[in-house]
Amino acid sequence: MPALLELDHVGLSYHTLAGEIPALSQISFSIQEGEFVSLVGPSGCGKTTTLRIIAGLERPTAGRVLIDGTDVTGLPPEKRPVNTVFQNYALFPHMTVFQNIAYGLKVLGISKSEQKERVMAALSLVRLAGFERRMPSQLSGGQQQRVAIARAVIANPQLILADEPTGNLDSKNGQEVMELLSELNREGTTIIMVTHSQHDSTYAHRVLHLFDGTLVKDLTNKL
Ligand code: ADP
Ligand code: MG
Repeated sequence: MPALLELDHVGLSYHTLAGEIPALSQISFSIQEGEFVSLVGPSGCGKTTTLRIIAGLERPTAGRVLIDGTDVTGLPPEKRPVNTVFQNYALFPHMTVFQNIAYGLKVLGISKSEQKERVMAALSLVRLAGFERRMPSQLSGGQQQRVAIARAVIANPQLILADEPTGNLDSKNGQEVMELLSELNREGTTIIMVTHSQHDSTYAHRVLHLFDGTLVKDLTNKL
């Protein structure tokens, strides 16, 4: 069985007016289906770049990305079974909670009645039943992040990426978001999360340490 995700000697340099900025070099790791992996390291070490490459938002300048053994290096984000949750929630501000969550299903051409059924199930999963008509600006940060999680899981991705999902939240809301991610993982979704919080990393099975664009440690959490 191939790994769900494999990065094979991935490198990326950003081309800027000031020249080439090397962000990642020779990154190789595999993630099995069902794992919950935390990605840690100092600011600027390449964590977000790694997630963006996995999502297909950035194309590596070296190496390959494989999903289920298939080379997806050149595939756009919408063709990958991957969805992302961002630190700043990144909800569509002009859309209701319902429309935000339904968006991915609408793009897939799923019928209105099925959209409704699935959005309601996702809302109850993130404990926001009854909030479907609110606008994002009418929600707390924790609630917005739970909408972002519902939006990310609605099309049943195999892999969820979360970039500092608790970074803008107080500890109570952060804990709720972590418990939700943990629950999704127990139900079978593979998760890769970037975090600065050691407490958040305790929810993960494995912690990958990046430093200066390279992978320096790959530790299994004691259970
Ligand atoms: P982290 O998420 O670990 O803080 P990033 O992946 O965002 O780090 O950044 C890694 C390196 O790439 C840093 O040196 C950063 O300044 C640089 N970088 C990130 N995004 C860009 C960009 N769009 N253009 C140029 N350089 C970038
Ligand atoms: Mg980052």
